[in-house]
Amino acid sequence: MSHFSYQDGVLHAESTPLSRVAEAFGTPTYVYSKSALLQNFAAYADACAGRDALVCYAMKANSNLAILDLLAREGAGFDIVSGGELLRVIAAGGDPGKVIFSGVGKTVAEMRLALEKNILCFNVESIPELHRLNEVAGSMGKRAPVSLRVNPNVDAKTHPYIATGLKANKFGVAFDDALATYRAASALPHLDVVGIDCHIGSQLLDDAPLLEALDKLIELIDTLHAEGIHVHHLDIGGGIGVDYGAEGDKPPVPVGDYLGRLFARIDAWRAERHDGRPIKVIFEPGRSIVADTGVLLTSIEFLKPGEEKSFCIVDAAMNDLMRPTLYGAWMGVQPVAPREGGKVVYDIVGPVCESGDWLARDRALAVAPGDLLAVMTAGAYGMTMASNYNTRGRAAEVIVDGEQMHLVRRRETPEELYALESMLK
Ligand SMILES: *Cc1c(COP(=O)(O)O)cnc(C)c1O
Repeated sequence: MSHFSYQDGVLHAESTPLSRVAEAFGTPTYVYSKSALLQNFAAYADACAGRDALVCYAMKANSNLAILDLLAREGAGFDIVSGGELLRVIAAGGDPGKVIFSGVGKTVAEMRLALEKNILCFNVESIPELHRLNEVAGSMGKRAPVSLRVNPNVDAKTHPYIATGLKANKFGVAFDDALATYRAASALPHLDVVGIDCHIGSQLLDDAPLLEALDKLIELIDTLHAEGIHVHHLDIGGGIGVDYGAEGDKPPVPVGDYLGRLFARIDAWRAERHDGRPIKVIFEPGRSIVADTGVLLTSIEFLKPGEEKSFCIVDAAMNDLMRPTLYGAWMGVQPVAPREGGKVVYDIVGPVCESGDWLARDRALAVAPGDLLAVMTAGAYGMTMASNYNTRGRAAEVIVDGEQMHLVRRRETPEELYALESMLK
C-alpha cells in the first residue's frame, strides 16, 4: 500500500492530511512517511536475514538526522561521500564501524577524520588515492581498511540508465587494471586490503546489469585469491530504481527478488569455486530506501495563462528540487484536495529567475491559487541537493508517523542565509 493516499478527498501521508502539515509548518515543505522508510529498509534487511550482510544506506540521497537515526536503529550502516556526512552519522547516533567511505576526491582531512573514527572501509577509486591514504594512515600509526571500486564496464547499450560503471566515467578503477591496482595496494604498508566494490549507476529498473557486475567481481575475487590477495567483503553498490509514476515507465525490480537472485549466485559460487570461505556482502542503496517515502508540498501562488503555455507558479522551485532541471526528470504532481471542473495544461514552475526553474511540464490540472500540490517520490536527491539560490531559505522537513507530525528540520530564515558573511571594514 502506498503511504500517500487520498482519504475523504484529501491527500494524506499515512493518517495525516497534507493540508494539516501545510497549516502547521507552511510551504514548501518536504514530508516523509516513517512507515514507508522502515518498510523500504526492511525489504533489504529481510532479504539479508541470517546472512553475513550489511546494508549501508547511501546517505547522499537524504541525510536528515532523523532519517539517519531511524535507519541506524534498524541496524543500517552508511555509505558516505564526505567528512561532513561522517559527522552527520555520528551526530545521529550511527556507528562509524558500519561506515564505508566512497568518492573520487577524498581529502587528507577527510581521511584523517575517518581513520580517527575507525570506519569500516575506504572505497578507493584510484592509485594516487591509495598512496595518499597510505601516507595519512602511516602518519597516524594506523592501517586503513580498503576496498577498490572496480569499474566492471557492464554493457550500457541496452541499459541506458547506467551511468557510472563504464570506462568513460570518472569513477573507479578499470576492470583491466584492477589486478595491478590490488597488487599495488597490498604492497603498501599502512593499508589492509579487505574488500572489493562497485557501483554501476542509479535508477536501474532491471537487475541484469547488477548481476553481470557481480559475476565480474566474483571472477576478480578468484583471480586475487590465486595471487594470495584475500578480500573479505563484496560490496555491490546501490542503484535499484524506483517508480516515479510516468506513463509507460516500467516498474523497477522488487528489492527482495534482486537480492534473492544475487545471494543465489553468491551461494552457488561459494559452494563450487570459493571453497566455502566466508564473504560479507554489502549493499549501498540510496534512492530505493527514501525516494517514495517523501513528497514536496507546495502552494500555488498564481496561475498565468498564456497563448502557447500556461504556467502554474508555485512557492517551491529548482533550488528546492533540482531533479527536473538537472536531469530532465519527470516527477508526479498531485493536487492535495482535487477539485471538480475543467483541467488546464500547465507547466509547474517556481519563482526563481531561470527558465530552467520548472518542476513539471504539461500537466493537466484543475486548480486555483492557494491550492496545495504534492510533488511525489521526492524523498531522494531532493532536500540534499537544495540550495539557497535567490536567497531562498531551504524548505522545512517533516516526518509523519500515523497521525503525528514531527518537524525534523525547520525552515531557514533569510537572516541565517547571510549570517556567515561580512563586509569590508
Ligand atoms: C549515490 C551512490 C549510491 C546510491 O545510489 P542509489 O542509486 O541512490 O541507490 C551508492 N554508492 C555510491 C558509491 C554512490 O555514489
